[in-house]
Amino acid sequence: MAEQVTIIGAGIVGICSAIYLLEKGFAVEVIDRDPPAEGASHGNAGVVSPWTCVPQSMPGLWRNVPRWLLDPEGPVALRWPYLPSFLPWAVKFLRAGDAAGLPAIADAMNALNRPNLELYRQLLKNTGAEHLISDSCYVHVYRDPAAIDLRQLAWRLRLDRDVPLEAIDDGTLHEIEPALSADYKAAVLIKAQGRALDPGGVGKALAAKAQAAGARFRQVGVDRIAPREGGGWRLGTAGGEIDCGKLVVAAGAWSARLLAPLGLKLPLEAERGYHLVLGNPGITVNNSIMDTESKFVASSMLAGVRCAGTAEFAGLDAAPDYRRAKVFKRLAKRLFPDINTDDTVEWMGSRPSFPDSLPCIGEVPGQRDLFAAFGHSHYGFGMAPNTGRIVAGVVAGETPNVDLAPYGMGRFS
Ligand SMILES: Cc1cc2nc3c(=O)[nH]c(=O)nc-3n(C[C@H](O)[C@H](O)[C@H](O)COP(=O)(O)OP(=O)(O)OC[C@H]3O[C@@H](n4cnc5c(N)ncnc54)[C@H](O)[C@@H]3O)c2cc1C
Repeated sequence: MAEQVTIIGAGIVGICSAIYLLEKGFAVEVIDRDPPAEGASHGNAGVVSPWTCVPQSMPGLWRNVPRWLLDPEGPVALRWPYLPSFLPWAVKFLRAGDAAGLPAIADAMNALNRPNLELYRQLLKNTGAEHLISDSCYVHVYRDPAAIDLRQLAWRLRLDRDVPLEAIDDGTLHEIEPALSADYKAAVLIKAQGRALDPGGVGKALAAKAQAAGARFRQVGVDRIAPREGGGWRLGTAGGEIDCGKLVVAAGAWSARLLAPLGLKLPLEAERGYHLVLGNPGITVNNSIMDTESKFVASSMLAGVRCAGTAEFAGLDAAPDYRRAKVFKRLAKRLFPDINTDDTVEWMGSRPSFPDSLPCIGEVPGQRDLFAAFGHSHYGFGMAPNTGRIVAGVVAGETPNVDLAPYGMGRFS
């Protein structure tokens, strides 16, 4: 009989892990309180970039923080009562932006992302959902052409890793994106990447594929993880206890809370993001557009133009503040003057963010048969296929062909 592996979390990371574990011959059960791909994996901006290698914390970023926090429409928000809980993470986050450590972080991000487009294409083959990932550029748009300086660190990190990018002028930009306002005068184009036309739909199609290959999806919340006498793990749920052998925690922003009773203290923050879908936009966006001023991404998806972004710090349990999604109405109009903003859908989801923008992947130190696959911050949709592939190899006892040290929990001790 095939050995059983249980995964907590049916987000894109848990789903990709399930497929690769099935390929290794394991019997797989995926447990989630919600249906597959309903968490952060549903509402993200859909950017699938093999080239992503620039973390969130960069030198000098702190200079912008007061301005962003004071602007009610700014890209960063903090609920002030949450400040004492947030501060230790914020200090670690700012420290992670030390220039000396950035090349190693960029390499580790790069290693996870590089094969993502190819892996998605393989995973989606014969699912009928192949069309949900489309070829795309990443168009970083600027109103002031003088603001583009490819000698800046973020661009240098990319150029040093052979990212195919090019600064383009007004004319080329509007040829590529005719709906863009004439106020935008230049852009940096990152080429040869992908974008999802329905990120949640990608997750659901892959969950259906896993199910068809034998994975069992069980819908129940896990309250507690405890070691079982004699080996394996016992999960406490509202529906009773579930005994399992090998256990993969892929519970996104909730993962650290689940692991805390085992004595693991992990600096994982719920970095809450919002989106607004403009359901009847009347325009088309041909690529993923990054508004470099307001730090959000706009992209045409099946349901309309989705504007996604914002980092709100309020903890895991606070109710959404949809004013943060409504902000995108005005910002979308600034980008695309002809866009129709009458028909909108708002959404909030939590990015699972460690201070260094890298996830935890691999065996949990000191805990036999317990594995981590969480903490992918702003990049988890792109990093999910390779994370699933790596974690399946580790569960199977294989030596990974990537260095797992940058994704180890040891980096926090
Ligand atoms: C606004 C926004 C835009 C983004 N844009 C991009 C982008 O363009 N490209 C990109 O690569 N990434 C992007 N991201 C990041 C990306 O969405 C996440 O990193 C990724 O979805 C994380 O996947 P996950 O499977 O780890 O978590 P999730 O999708 O959140 O899944 C975790 C699952 O675990 C379940 N769970 C948690 N605790 C329990 C429990 N106790 N019991 C049972 N089930 C539990 C949850 O219900 C959930 O379904 C964006 C995120 C946001 C918010």
